[in-house]
Amino acid sequence: MIPFNKPFIIGNELRYIEEAVKSGKISGDGLFTKKCQQFFEEKYKFPKVLLTTSCTDALEMAAILCDIKPGDEVIVPSYTFVSSANAFALRGAKIVFVDSYKDNPNIDPEEIKKHITSNTKVIVPVHYAGVACDMEAIMNIAKDHNLFVVEDAAQAIDSYYTFSDGTKKALGSIGHFAAFSFHETKNIIAGEGGMLVINDNKYFERAEIIREKGTNRSAFFRGEVNKYGWVDLGSSFLPSEIISAFLFAQLENLDTIQAKRIDIWNRYLQGLKALADNNFIQLPIIPEFATNNAHMFYIVCRNYDERTSLINFLKESDIHPVFHYLSLNKSEFFLKDNLEIDIPNSDHFTDCLLRLPFYYELSEEQQQKIIQRINTFYQNK
Ligand SMILES: *Cc1c(COP(=O)(O)O)cnc(C)c1O
Repeated sequence: MIPFNKPFIIGNELRYIEEAVKSGKISGDGLFTKKCQQFFEEKYKFPKVLLTTSCTDALEMAAILCDIKPGDEVIVPSYTFVSSANAFALRGAKIVFVDSYKDNPNIDPEEIKKHITSNTKVIVPVHYAGVACDMEAIMNIAKDHNLFVVEDAAQAIDSYYTFSDGTKKALGSIGHFAAFSFHETKNIIAGEGGMLVINDNKYFERAEIIREKGTNRSAFFRGEVNKYGWVDLGSSFLPSEIISAFLFAQLENLDTIQAKRIDIWNRYLQGLKALADNNFIQLPIIPEFATNNAHMFYIVCRNYDERTSLINFLKESDIHPVFHYLSLNKSEFFLKDNLEIDIPNSDHFTDCLLRLPFYYELSEEQQQKIIQRINTFYQNK
């Protein structure tokens, strides 16, 4: 059986968990949490990183930091995971869904422009498959209208954006805030886990407070105040040392993991290119300003029915691909209070996009089988 995803251990995960337990402190913000945060700050020049229990939590922290109030509008791609929108809806925001490009699931800046009103407060670009949105265009729109940009970088670890002047920046370091995920389906995993990146030092202190249940406990532990108490809104967003210990072992092997994933990605590309050349499928597009972090390999089928038959065909060979997001503008929750709106490109990806099995331990032999079966499926079309 070839599953869609398979969590893996690559180095010292279990040893570090044992170390954390034996150290006598397994709640948050211990040695391993600090090591992980430092790793990211150094490697990707993130001004400040706070580990969280999930990317969802990091997005919720960002929504509090943006001071979202009922009636504020937040622009989110319709083709994304629930959390990109839900984090802001929780604070009373009105979610304004906009469309993707025709040939790329990322949010289209021209569509963003059309949906800005005097109530717009935040834009949430989602770097789908770890491929950058057009951040220069998005940051310019945000500057013109005085908006926050919260990058949903859940899939975007170790990926970059190049500005038109040649400056290259890690995804997550460009907006005001960014949220990453270490869920077991991402490149670097910790089971559940995430982090918030804060790119403006004006928000460092408040972010710490929000993460510590609305208290200034972090400042207290640094000796900056002599008692701590309730000073702001917040929740319990910090992961235990057991999670951080696992994560740090993965981070020590980040380059190895990434090299392996790039190999897997390129093998899919080579094996399926001919089908794309013959217009049976569409392959991922990596714009010139973006890099490929090999988070996922997807194909876009010609229509919904063909995708369904391909899924069934592969399942007969015990290969388990998965489709992805159901356009959020068509979700039960959104339709309760809103009319059905038409977001055609997002709907197209909902109907036609198929994610192929992709995980660290996927063998070359398994991958050849997947590629061969897909080619066989299209032989008689
Ligand atoms: C995985 C994912 C999330 C959620 O991450 P969690 O860590 O599971 O909360 C949010 N947004 C996108 C785009 C994702 O891919």
